[in-house]
Amino acid sequence: MEKTTFNPITIRKDFPILNRKVNGNPLVYFDNAATSQTPQQVIDVIVDYYSNYNANIHRGVHALSQEATDKYEQARIKIQKHFNAAKPYEVIFTSGTTHSINLVANGFSSILKAGDELIVSAMEHHSNIVPWQMLCERTGAILKVIPMSEEGELLLDEYYKLLSGETKLVFCNHVSNALGTVNPIKTIIDAAHEVGAAVLIDGAQAAPHIKADVQELDVDFYTVSAHKMCGPTGEGMLYGKEEWLNKLPPYQGGGEMIAEVTFAKTTYADLPHKFEAGTPNICGGIAFGAALDYMNAIGFKEIAAYEHELLHYATEQLLTIEGLRIYGTSKSKTSVISFNIEGIHPYDMGSILDKLGIAVRTGHHCAQPIMDFYKIPGTVRASLSFYNTKDEVDVLVAGIKRAKAMLL
Ligand code: PLP
Repeated sequence: MEKTTFNPITIRKDFPILNRKVNGNPLVYFDNAATSQTPQQVIDVIVDYYSNYNANIHRGVHALSQEATDKYEQARIKIQKHFNAAKPYEVIFTSGTTHSINLVANGFSSILKAGDELIVSAMEHHSNIVPWQMLCERTGAILKVIPMSEEGELLLDEYYKLLSGETKLVFCNHVSNALGTVNPIKTIIDAAHEVGAAVLIDGAQAAPHIKADVQELDVDFYTVSAHKMCGPTGEGMLYGKEEWLNKLPPYQGGGEMIAEVTFAKTTYADLPHKFEAGTPNICGGIAFGAALDYMNAIGFKEIAAYEHELLHYATEQLLTIEGLRIYGTSKSKTSVISFNIEGIHPYDMGSILDKLGIAVRTGHHCAQPIMDFYKIPGTVRASLSFYNTKDEVDVLVAGIKRAKAMLL
């Protein structure tokens, strides 16, 4: 596809929501790590699905069902190509990262035994902690934690010490949603493989900014949520290496996932259907494919370069505000600025910014262990996307100064 020069002003025209006002002010949307906005190109695909070929997939002989099936399976191939999976059936459609992780954690119930060890990083989203704790409760496996530094970087030497022949699984995010740190996942994966452990990388926050190549990474599982990368909510994927997906038992039973059902015994369908019980989010899968088309047409290199520049600018400008502290100061960082201002509760700051039309997230960002590490109740998080501008950063900085004057 022919690429045009990256221009955020032109790109913004693709996003109808960016024209709206909030509390009488133009919307400044800095909550992209929670969910990204949707371009007209993806909205059109959703409208087209429900207007022209809404039908259930895989079982129908009629035209609409076949059209929907074709588009859905084409989307799987788009996702496969984007993440460079070796086979289309290594892409399992899920409702998002949370579902993907639970699917894998459930599967490991029948593989682990008491005393096996799992390693998690200190900077995970709750959805990459809780399913594993539940797994440990079921199996008697032990959860160990890779600690992190004040800058928000994982302590790799400590990680190496945790690895042993007992380690069966390591899970870690590619990018931290609360700090923006880009973790050295290739190093983490290679070290885990040396002791024979499998690795799941939570790519929810990385996928909007970095194009991961699952074969080059040699990762066993990689998870993504479509709604963080210009796609719809309730849609995502689990990438799994074929050998692992074949080893894991199905997560849910029902229609679509069977080969044959009798009351005596049921046999399961081949990949990927074994893990896709019930009617899926058909439109969501097709729209996920369209979102990848949209972002690839802009170009991930171009997106990363622009977002890096914007992150640098925003960091510099925010640090001009007296009393402002940024959490997560790694040099290897993307698009998330978590901060607090001395003497101001993050919730109060977020509420005033909202009155000014500025959307930021406040709280623990589903990463309470990180907040405990810094001994804070939460942060204000401004998360950037390629459709944000330096002018919007200026509006944010002015808004924070105004809120500060009101609150202190
Ligand atoms: N992992 C990370 C790093 C996230 O940032 C999020 C969402 O914020 C999730 C997992 C959960 O994603 P979802 O709610 O789409 O399942």
